[in-house]
Amino acid sequence: MPFSDSPSPVAPLPSSRLWTASTTGGVAVVIMLLLAAARPDMAAWLLVGAAIVALVTWLGSRPVDRAATALGPLIAAAETPAGLEDSRLLDAVFEALDDPVMIIAGGDADDIAGRRIILANRAARDLLRIPRAGSLLVSAMRDPGVLEAVDEALFGGLGRTTDYTAAGARERHWKAWVRPLEASPGGGRTAILGLRDETDVRRMELMRVDFLANASHELRTPLASLSGFIETLKGHARDDSVARDRFLDIMAAQAERMSRLVADLLSLSRIELNEHIPPSGRLDVARAASDVVDAISVLSQDKGVTVLLDVPPLEARIAGDRDEIVQVIQNLTDNAIKYSAVGGLVELSVRSDLDTEAAAAPRLPGAARLSLLTPDRDATARYVAVTVRDYGPGMAREHLPRLTERFYRVEGQKSGDRPGTGLGLAIVKHIVNRHRGGLMVESAPGEGSLLVAYFPQLDAAPAIEAAA
Ligand code: ADP
Repeated sequence: MPFSDSPSPVAPLPSSRLWTASTTGGVAVVIMLLLAAARPDMAAWLLVGAAIVALVTWLGSRPVDRAATALGPLIAAAETPAGLEDSRLLDAVFEALDDPVMIIAGGDADDIAGRRIILANRAARDLLRIPRAGSLLVSAMRDPGVLEAVDEALFGGLGRTTDYTAAGARERHWKAWVRPLEASPGGGRTAILGLRDETDVRRMELMRVDFLANASHELRTPLASLSGFIETLKGHARDDSVARDRFLDIMAAQAERMSRLVADLLSLSRIELNEHIPPSGRLDVARAASDVVDAISVLSQDKGVTVLLDVPPLEARIAGDRDEIVQVIQNLTDNAIKYSAVGGLVELSVRSDLDTEAAAAPRLPGAARLSLLTPDRDATARYVAVTVRDYGPGMAREHLPRLTERFYRVEGQKSGDRPGTGLGLAIVKHIVNRHRGGLMVESAPGEGSLLVAYFPQLDAAPAIEAAA
């Protein structure tokens, strides 16, 4: 109970039960009177029976004195041991509600600052720091919209929903709903005021709007460039074969960029859709890594970058979706090649049978490091880690926390003739999350970067003692 003397308002009306009893009694009396008229030999008995039924029905349906409290209905319910149980249960439910809920008493209609909180559950007391029963509503909530809605419920009998923003260390957005309660026999007016936390919904909505804006902006740039070149080719470059070939090359690159972007957007939405469903397949990560090296060889040779692959002699098996794990390794290796200088070196390694510390252990001395995703703590879990190390430009510390944001790019970084979409690491993070793994980055400007994605291992190799 929030305040010891305040019963919960959420009780069913006793009158709903009495209606049935009175009606049934009335019908029985009428039937008995009709029978008495039809059978004079039994009339005396039937009349006595009708009188008894009428008396019992009348006693049962007498109105209960509820004037003692503004929240009277519960008194009637609490008069019997069963009613008392109901009342305690309802109080406990009210108190346990996650959402803040309060009962507000009206006071003087002209005094908008005079509304008092006569009952508040724990969530409301904790959120609004309500010290005691009877505290002024205006000291707990100053929002004019909420105060107005409460007044409308108390004195206009109308329910309303309004927005309420609680400022603080972390701004929170609430929906405040107010409904009038049945006027109490004591003459006071009461209303129920509840709050529903909509902070997360609001944030998701903003993210969705941002995402759409970013995606259309990213698509608009190559699209504008394509239409520009088409105009030029139709115009003065029509008969200039050298210019035409050059423009067609640029147009092909822009079209390729658009299709990369669309492919990344589609993969991101597909992965997000499945993120809460654990993957059902099985795969050997070492095998997946060597497949990626084969697939990416044209790209690395084009840029003269050597990719060194280091895999363990035994299989490194995990439970996972093969295509998604290949995409993780490919995106990380692709970045390493893209941001390496011509003729550079990329090292791709797979290690197995590691504990969490070993999987994410620092490997670049002096570099900034950050865990972009940490798996749930499990002291017994063993991991398979994929590490991609490059000797490219590296990144300053301040960029690391934002790397997995969609469309985030480190400014001024050269990626050769294949500008990135800014979605590669966002995709990596979602896939690693679906596989209950971890993601770690180490980097320093001028020193290159190292990214590690690690996944829970299946059939970890038995310990030496056990095997012996
Ligand atoms: P993109 O498709 O642009 O590469 P990512 O999400 O894969 O998008 O990466 C985000 C940004 O992080 C990149 O634009 C780049 O600035 C930076 N980045 C990622 N990997 C590396 C790397 N190996 N070396 C340097 N910068 C990197």
